[in-house]
Amino acid sequence: MKKLLIISLIIMTGIIITGQTKKDSSKGFVMDKVVKSSEEWQTCLTPEEYQVLREKGTEAAFTGKYYKYKEVGTYLCAACGNELFASGTKYDSGSGWPAFFDALDETKVNTKRDISYGMVRTEITCAKCDSHLGHVFEDGPKPTGLRYCVNSLALDFAPKK
Ligand code: FE
Repeated sequence: MKKLLIISLIIMTGIIITGQTKKDSSKGFVMDKVVKSSEEWQTCLTPEEYQVLREKGTEAAFTGKYYKYKEVGTYLCAACGNELFASGTKYDSGSGWPAFFDALDETKVNTKRDISYGMVRTEITCAKCDSHLGHVFEDGPKPTGLRYCVNSLALDFAPKK
């Protein structure tokens, strides 16, 4: 009886571990990481883009080129071209930065707790190149209730063909 219990425990653990590995490897398989040195990023980004994307800067509110942008298409990471947000999820949050209520899919954007500047926020980064995009807040509209607040300087736009 005891033996049986141990065997079932081993099998159960195996299932759990296999399940987790599968999930992680499938995410890794989808996302080919873009890794560059600071020097390399500096040569392919403008100083303003570099400051936001690689040094977690924030552009001044109401100044970004995509704040009031209403074209139909896809917003991409300005550093690596990863598709991040669909224009259909963009809305005017009144904050002064482009806002989206959802990412294109959950594998595109990573989140991380950010306690800088005496605030508790959730930073969002590009899952492909780890560049800083902005922050996500829980005061967005339905259906997600999320507000992905993104710097225009972190974005490129691909119009729908
Ligand atoms: Fe990127």
